[in-house]
Amino acid sequence: MSKCKFDRQDKEGALAILGGERAIDKLFMVYNSLGKEEKQAAIGVLETGVLSQFIGGWHEHFYGGPKVREFERACETYFDIKHAVTFNSLTSGLISAVGAIGLEPGDEVIVSPWTMCASATAILHWNAIPVFADIETETFNLDLKSVEANISPYTKAIIAVDIFGHPVDMDALMTLAEKYNLKIISDTAQAPSAFYKEQYAGTLADIGGYSLNYHKHIHTGEGGIMVTNDDEYAEKMRLIRNHAEAVVGSKGETDLVNMVGYNFRLGEIESAIGIEQLKKLPDFVMRRQIIAEQLSSGLKNLLGLRTPIIKPNCTHAYYVYPILLNIDLLGVSRQVIFDALDAEGVSGLIQGYVNLHLLPMYQRKIAYGKKGFPWTAEFCKRNVNYDLGVCPVAEQLHRETFLGYQMCLYELTDDDVQLVIYAFKKVWSNLGDLSEYEKGR
Ligand SMILES: *Cc1c(COP(=O)(O)O)cnc(C)c1O
Repeated sequence: MSKCKFDRQDKEGALAILGGERAIDKLFMVYNSLGKEEKQAAIGVLETGVLSQFIGGWHEHFYGGPKVREFERACETYFDIKHAVTFNSLTSGLISAVGAIGLEPGDEVIVSPWTMCASATAILHWNAIPVFADIETETFNLDLKSVEANISPYTKAIIAVDIFGHPVDMDALMTLAEKYNLKIISDTAQAPSAFYKEQYAGTLADIGGYSLNYHKHIHTGEGGIMVTNDDEYAEKMRLIRNHAEAVVGSKGETDLVNMVGYNFRLGEIESAIGIEQLKKLPDFVMRRQIIAEQLSSGLKNLLGLRTPIIKPNCTHAYYVYPILLNIDLLGVSRQVIFDALDAEGVSGLIQGYVNLHLLPMYQRKIAYGKKGFPWTAEFCKRNVNYDLGVCPVAEQLHRETFLGYQMCLYELTDDDVQLVIYAFKKVWSNLGDLSEYEKGR
């Protein structure tokens, strides 16, 4: 890297990446959703001595202890849904949801490639086959035209992800689902308390789910909540959560399909913390929305930078503040913009998600054992394609044009937000220098 030519540290306003002063010379406060209420709740549980009360058999404690149940009832009230079922992660919740909708091995489930890996692995756990449809560039959610083009006679469900905090267009998705008789599971890990037509994102699907992992808006360390209005799905998820095979006989369940259980149970301390966290969720989301509005009004006139789009009848929970770059207009690659912003002190940026279909597991189709199971099994009717190019939009976003600011990493004050905007403006007013820098590298 030849820096000398652009070494202008004596000149005010030079970019930090070229030796100038950083726009932001402070560390932002780390985001922390926990307070004294959670501490008290946790101590309260410790004092009872009951850290879990689940029993993996048909027993009055099959549904868990008092805090688990209280938390579930609180989630039902909050999300205005018939059933909330807690899990020790959303990953395990999604596995249970896919099992509950009753798939056969070899069935296909359409899912976004632009998400966290668990959205798709949940499908593989039941020896069903993930099929990746492309996304659109306005909300970065599934592109329903691509979804429809990927529907085959073997497609049974769609896992839609409300990525970065923007709800999927549920009306359009449900219309498609009805047309082809498909089930919808909504991975709403990043959009708790976002609204779609005055209903909570995640609650309009057959089954929806939220994560309580410590990276998310609210957390219990690890944990997850699944929501559904369907009695049968709720009960199946509770069974899969808690050793279904040992319970079905004495419970009198006759349908044994996918009644292969796990221990996916949430603890009493986590549930007690969750009860307190849930009360604070609206405020945490509202603060992210205020920060996002400030960012958008500060960044909206920058060349080749598109601030987030919010579709009509939707609200955004801003787990990530998503930016789209027009590289042709900028004349600089996204990597150099990223490096320049990072050098100015804007930490917490991401360049999008690795497309799931490009993970080694899908590329080589090696999951269970050496022989390509389940893709090579007889029950797999179709050779699903995971080649580079199957999701061109998602691939290009990851390679070139997406930039996101992670909103649940730091707790920005209003002044901090202005500093971030200042850093962006500084980089944008020196694009010529950056372009020279990139050519000289
Ligand atoms: C965090 C996340 C998950 C997984 O949640 P865990 O509770 O960590 O298992 C799944 N999907 C998406 C989109 C996520 O962001």
